[in-house]
Amino acid sequence: MSELDELYREVIIDHGRSPRNRHALEGETVVSQEGYNPLCGDRLTLYLDLRDGVVADAGFTGEGCAISTASASLLTERVQGLSVADADALFARFRAVMTDAPLPAGEAPELEALEVLEGVRAYPMRVKCATLAWHTLHALLAGDDEAPATTE
Ligand code: ZN
Repeated sequence: MSELDELYREVIIDHGRSPRNRHALEGETVVSQEGYNPLCGDRLTLYLDLRDGVVADAGFTGEGCAISTASASLLTERVQGLSVADADALFARFRAVMTDAPLPAGEAPELEALEVLEGVRAYPMRVKCATLAWHTLHALLAGDDEAPATTE
């Protein structure tokens, strides 16, 4: 395992053990969405406080494996302050990173904090754990009534 892989692994373990923003949000501007990954049993509810088209705050609750928890934790840190459009664009890029080609170096600096999850791609069963929170985010931002799918 390279030093970088080791660093990434530590970030995932850290966020998995001590998730950030693990709490529900309340208020008139808060929207929420449930997500479920039947392959692993991960369940979460994602909360966003949307004010004037900007993610003012983000949180999540639920139970899942370390990877799904770490991914949700990283997501809630990363989307705060983003416009709804930028947050959804981040989902699209994250999904591409998790399912397609590796991210070219320096091509998308805004994804740096999320590249830690790229190593998960080596374990196809766990990709759905890592993407669960992101599909939930997308469903929430897109206003889909359907439960988020983690089928890709
Ligand atoms: Zn999982």
